[in-house]
Order: sequence, then C-alpha cells, then structure tokens
Amino acid sequence: MPDIQLDFLGDLKRTHDCGALRLEHEGQRVLLMGWVHRRRDLGGVIFIHLRDREGTSQLVFRGESFPEPHARAEDLRSEYVIGVTGIVEKRSADTINPNLPTGEVEVVVDKIWIFNESKTPPFPMEDTVDVSEDARLKYRYVDLRRPRMQRNIILRSKMSFAVREHLYGQGFLELETPFLTKSTPEGSRDFLVPSRINPGTFYALPQSPQIFKQLFMVAGYDKYFQIVRCLRDEDLRADRQLEFTQIDLEVSFPQQNDLFAAVEPLVQKMCACAGFDIPAPFPRLTYVEAMDRYGSDKPDTRVPQLYRVEDCFANTDLPIGTLPCVAITLPGTGAPSRKERDEMKAFGNERGLRVFDDAKRLDRDYADAMAKVRTRTGAGENDLLILAGWAAPEAKGARPHETVLKACGALRMFAAQMFNDRHQLLDPKVFQWLWVTDFPMFEWDDEDERWVAAHHPFCSVPDSDMDKLESDPANCRALSYDLVMNGNELASGSIRIHRRDIQSKVFKALGLSDEEARAKFGFLLDALEYGAPPHGGMALGLDRIVMLLAGEPSIREVIPFPKTAKGTDVMSDSPSPVSDKQLRELGIALRKPH
Ligand code: ASP
Repeated sequence: MPDIQLDFLGDLKRTHDCGALRLEHEGQRVLLMGWVHRRRDLGGVIFIHLRDREGTSQLVFRGESFPEPHARAEDLRSEYVIGVTGIVEKRSADTINPNLPTGEVEVVVDKIWIFNESKTPPFPMEDTVDVSEDARLKYRYVDLRRPRMQRNIILRSKMSFAVREHLYGQGFLELETPFLTKSTPEGSRDFLVPSRINPGTFYALPQSPQIFKQLFMVAGYDKYFQIVRCLRDEDLRADRQLEFTQIDLEVSFPQQNDLFAAVEPLVQKMCACAGFDIPAPFPRLTYVEAMDRYGSDKPDTRVPQLYRVEDCFANTDLPIGTLPCVAITLPGTGAPSRKERDEMKAFGNERGLRVFDDAKRLDRDYADAMAKVRTRTGAGENDLLILAGWAAPEAKGARPHETVLKACGALRMFAAQMFNDRHQLLDPKVFQWLWVTDFPMFEWDDEDERWVAAHHPFCSVPDSDMDKLESDPANCRALSYDLVMNGNELASGSIRIHRRDIQSKVFKALGLSDEEARAKFGFLLDALEYGAPPHGGMALGLDRIVMLLAGEPSIREVIPFPKTAKGTDVMSDSPSPVSDKQLRELGIALRKPH
C-alpha cells in the first residue's frame, strides 16, 4: 500500500448519498462520501466512480484547477474510503452515462479526505465476475458490498418492514419469546446449550416459538407476531440453513378464513416490494385434491395437473392394476424424441412406475379409452401425453395410493423441467400462490414403526375425525394448512388444540405415555387447564420467500452471514474448539480430543 496520509472524519457531514445527484443539482456544492468503485487516470484528469448503498456518482479531479485533490487522487485504489466536496456540473451530451441514474452530472472535486485505504479486494465488485462461494463467504463483508447482494439484503429489509407495517396495522403485537428453551421433540434435532449454573443440564435453542406463542394466546394477547430466528440441527441444503427466519403468527378465536385473509395481503405486500403484483384471494386445494391433481402436497401449479385415468382403461388389458393411473400432459412440446421418452421412462421406473410413453401406439391400441383420456385432458397432437401407473401389484406406505401419486407427481415435474426450454412453463417470474388445507394428522415412520405428527402434535383435528385418532390414524385429518408457491412450501400452520383432554389424546396416539407427555410438555398441558382460548396461526419462511422473489437459487444469497453447506462459518472460523477452562466450567468432558 502506498504510504498515504489519512484524514479524520471530524465534523464532516454528507449532503447527499452517491445515488442522489441529478440535473436539478447542477451548480450546487455537495459533500459525498463512499468507496472508490473505479478509477480512470487520464493524466491531467482523473475520474472516480464513488459508490455507496444508494448508487454511484462520477467525480472529476482536474489537475489544472485543483492540483492538491488531483495529486491525492493519484494514490486512490479500489475500495478506498473517501469524502469529497465539489460542484455538480452537467455532463456534455457525449459523456452522459445512460447506465447510471446519476449519469447526467458529475462532481468537480475541490477537496478530498481519505478516511481509509483498502487492500486489493479479494474479488472485483462487479456482479458479472464469477467468484467461488468460499471466497465470497470468507470475505463476506466485501461480498455484501456487491450490487447483487446489496439488492437482496435491502429487499429483505424492505420486506421485513412491510410485514411489520401490515401486521401492526391489523392489531398484531410483536412479542419476543426465549432463545434458551426446553428440549422438546418437535421434529428436528435440537441445538443444545449446556447450563453452567445447573451442571449436567441443557437448554435447547428454539426450533420455533410454537409453544410460547400458544402460551401468549392462553395469556390473552390475542394477536401475536414475531420475525424470529429458528434453529434446527439438520443437514444443510440450498434452501435450508441451521438458523433461519420465520414470520411467526398466532391469533385467538380464529376462523381459518380470517387467518388466510390476514396473510394474503401480507404476501401481496412482500411481493410488491420486489415489484410483483399478485392477485388474491389465493386458490385453495385440500391435501387430497393436491395429491390427486399434482401428486404433491406443495404443487407447482404453473405445470398442468395430472388426470386420474384408471377408469378409462377399466375394461382393457393395459396392465395398470387397481392403483391410480394418471395422464401427464404438457402443452406444445411436440412429440417427444426417443431419448426424451427413455429419460422419462427411466425416471418413472426408478420410482416404481410403469410409464406408457408412446401416445401414438396407445391411440392405436386403445382407441376408445384414449379418446376419453384426450377429452379429459384436452391433450392434442402437438402436446405431450404419457400415462403412468404402478409397476407392482401393491404399493408401500400407510396410504398406498399416495405413494403412487407422489411418484407420478415427481415424473410430472421431471417432464416439465425437461421440456422447459421448449414451452417455458417454469417461468421464475410467474408466482402462483395457493393454500393446501386439511393435511393428514399423522405420517407413518417406517424406521421407528410408529405414527408421527405430520406437522406437529399441537394441530387440532376436525370434530368429525376425532374418533379416527385411535381407530384410523392413517385417515385422520388435521386442521392444518400450508401456503405454497411454485412447488415450494412457504408457510405452514394450523388451528391448535386448546383442550387438555384432546391434547392428551393426540400425545397418546403418537405413542407418548402420560409420564413422557408430562415430562416433555407438562407446562403446555398445565396451561391448557387455565382458560386456553381456541387459537391458531402459522409461520412463513422469510428466507425462502425473499430468495424466490429475488430470483436467487439459494437462501445463502439472501442471508447476510450464512453458513456453508458443512455448517461452518469460514469468515469467523466457527464452530471452533473451546478452552479446557470453558469446558470445566460447564462440567463437560469431551469423549475424544478434537
Ligand atoms: N411452528 C410451526 C413451524 O415452525 C408453524 C406453525 O404451526 O405455526 O413449522
């Protein structure tokens, strides 16, 4: 680094940010501060692009008129932090920069302050330059300066503000819940925090504020929300981090419709922050309908639905057995090539499906049945039409027909991806939001051979299904719902159980003995005995929503300081070993030295 004189900020104050200047400022004297984005030295004149969060302004250092700042500008390099004063001048027509909002003017600098130098940045500030994720995360404070990240993080902030503004306007209170909580089985693995004061015991970091928000309802707070960090010790994926942010809501005396009506404008406002105008109310599908039509509980409705067609082939020899058989159609693909047909077939076969990929042959051999299929699906000559049924006589799972439909749903999406470049169904700028309701209460856990809560054990059950808690868990529904967009689950919630007797019944159905239920959820069971009102709510995944609206492929692009896929922070080098003294204080001895 050159040995240069650095200046103090003193009492200097900016008059404008770097994105503010326009023709109307011509002739004004301004004071700007920011980072040196680019420098062009033409000898007698030096041009600097000065950048801050709001934009970029061109500075001109003219050696003849202002030799002192011009001489100092010779030392400037990328990412130096400076302040300048100067007069705003109109640029001549041939030097106007149409790519910059400030591009019609420039600041002729008469004084400069250099506040700090910068080492050569580990990568250029331009978005167009591909940089390894490792380098980006190691120097995250530099990466966060790049325009794409600034856009994402600022969008996130705007969306959080829109959420707060909307919910405060609807009478919600923003209330906090503890971070050091009790370890309760909520589905995922807990992060544990050893207690120094109570050796041998542990807190858990919250997987979600679920029970606490319910307690706020018991306590009479009526409408709660929080934009809150949740922590789950799970393997990471593109859309999963160890810590993530939920917009968490709970309401007393709710009708499901009221909750949807509160959340739909919230989602509209978040979309508006990203420049998208989306219609409401959102369509609704029950879980059973979603499975039947899309083979998924989080359907991507940009792609045409599946059609059940087993009835069309009832009196034919097409080998489809008694399980569901579906038609998958895509508009305007033309006839698939041999290779495309083979790929679809292989994908289906791997998932247990028998795939009938030759529509022409089916039309010829099963003319009557196929006429019905074509009427039902509306598929014409130029559209993709394939059939898929189950290859074996039986399917596994507590709800075997769902096993088949899920495989068909996966094949439908595989085909949509494969043909996407031809028909553009999966347009990332088309956002199709919908509610999926009436989920099953339980899923069968093959490994543990027991029923587990499909969502969580606090969801209530419709009155008509109460008996099924014991007699027919596979078909017992929950008053639960998800908010889905383009195949992504972006919120989920339920009307909760508010009665102790029913909560105990559900714990029992989940195989928890009374003692276990007391040990784990005693405080909730107690609270339900002190005037718990009917209540319900949901939680929206903020990171995923920002990711999709920003058009990013990973939530790491919209979280300022995320972990790598291995759960590490390469910038601060965590997790890291701690001293023996710290372990001793916690009463912890490690099994193996690390
Ligand atoms: N606590 C739930 C979750 O984290 C959401 C809810 O039911 O409100 O998935």
